[in-house]
Amino acid sequence: MKLYPLFADLSRRAVLVVGGGAVAERKVAALLDAGAQVTVNAPQLTPMLRGWVEQGRIAHRPEAFRESWLDRIWLVVAATSDRATNALIAELAGLRRLFVNVVDDAQLSTFHVPAVIDRALLTIAISSGGQAPMLARLLRERLETLLDHSLGALAALAARLRPRIRLRFPQPAARRSYYERLFAGPVAALLRQGREAEARAAAEQALAGEPAATAGTVVLVGAGPGDPGLLTLRGLRALNEADVILHDRLVSAEVLALARRDAERIEVGKQAGNHHATQEQIHRLMLEHASAGRRVVRLKGGDPFVFGRGGEELEFLRAHGIGYEVVPGITAALACAAYAGVPLTHRDHAQSVRLLTGHCQASHDTLDWAALAHERQTLAVYMGVGELAGLQSRLLEHGRSPSTPFALVENGSRAEQRVVTGTLAQLVERAAAHAVHSPALLILGEVAALAGSLAWFGAPPLGATVHDIGDAGRAARVRPARHQDGVLAALHQA
Ligand code: SAH
Repeated sequence: MKLYPLFADLSRRAVLVVGGGAVAERKVAALLDAGAQVTVNAPQLTPMLRGWVEQGRIAHRPEAFRESWLDRIWLVVAATSDRATNALIAELAGLRRLFVNVVDDAQLSTFHVPAVIDRALLTIAISSGGQAPMLARLLRERLETLLDHSLGALAALAARLRPRIRLRFPQPAARRSYYERLFAGPVAALLRQGREAEARAAAEQALAGEPAATAGTVVLVGAGPGDPGLLTLRGLRALNEADVILHDRLVSAEVLALARRDAERIEVGKQAGNHHATQEQIHRLMLEHASAGRRVVRLKGGDPFVFGRGGEELEFLRAHGIGYEVVPGITAALACAAYAGVPLTHRDHAQSVRLLTGHCQASHDTLDWAALAHERQTLAVYMGVGELAGLQSRLLEHGRSPSTPFALVENGSRAEQRVVTGTLAQLVERAAAHAVHSPALLILGEVAALAGSLAWFGAPPLGATVHDIGDAGRAARVRPARHQDGVLAALHQA
């Protein structure tokens, strides 16, 4: 069966829905959205449908279906659970040449309801003619992820300017080229940034024939910790539209694989030791490509604003008049905590969390070690494994208990993830014993003991040996200490 696609204007038109269950409710919701005058015929209604009746948004007929109701109707939906009733309604509607949709019955239906992607003015409908609805739904989900919600505003802007665009560009070719710039250029970017007035002004300016800014933009995108499932939809869209991708070494191959195939990929990997030179090079590359009108994605591991030098890059772009957007990413601390089963805060064990880096000597000297040594707070330390010894000795010097639990997460969220646990006293020794290497994140604090019981991803944590544990209980895998009693009690209950 080949269907003819059609978008119907149902505003203020009478539609009859027979049935008052969950399916009928879904149909009514969509019909109300289109402005239809809905009457529901069913002895009983879902609470939601009842609420709409009470608010006067729909009419309700509880009595048995009557053929005469079809006289004033434009469209019928049969959504009862009884096939014979549905078939009768379909037949009566057919006799009156009324289009009818019988829920889950392609045979009896004379119209089908497509899977829909809704962006205000813009509606994308997908149909498999009722034959493969799951496939249509899958496709809808995919498109849903690709299409930014600001597309609705873009469509509205284009609609408003349309008469003037026609006047200004009577030739179809010139008109098309204006629209192409409108939909792909700075106007669309401004709408994504929630700057509607500026977007309108830019569109007007282009219409007035003033030379449009040709400069491209830079989108700073947080790629997350490695698992491609942790990339945001916005990040994915930016990767889909990029001409050039400048990415860190830390960005996983799986995330890069999601980018537009013909985008130019440039690794601007930072190796410890030559940060400064590399950062200047990155600035130069961003400027060069954006000035040439390209859409540049600056793709960073984790989040661009957490130990990612995103701030410096924006300052540079601002100074050079290049437009930018920032798409946050899931930072290593959040990802490693989640994937190691360590809640960073916990009502019973930690009331705050601090993100810090031990990457450079300077930060070691400026950190407030006395404050970091307080109990009942979690430290998430971004660092090279080489800095563990300095961290350990300073925390101990300032009075953090040697029995404070830690979880050291290597390659968090990736297939190779390893988690090493122990106590602050054992930190350096255990990291060395398991040859932990970069990228690794240290979670230190009472909550880290929970990794022993809450871990769910990858291999179980490499806990202390039986000898280390003593009688403290296998689940905790750490030595018990006064201030950890709460954690251990929780673990024993678990
Ligand atoms: N902007 C990044 C951090 C960059 S600093 C973010 O928000 O995550 C680099 C440090 O991040 C690494 O040395 C390591 O400590 C940590 N890191 C990044 N990805 C990691 C991962 N998948 N597993 C463990 N640590 C990670």
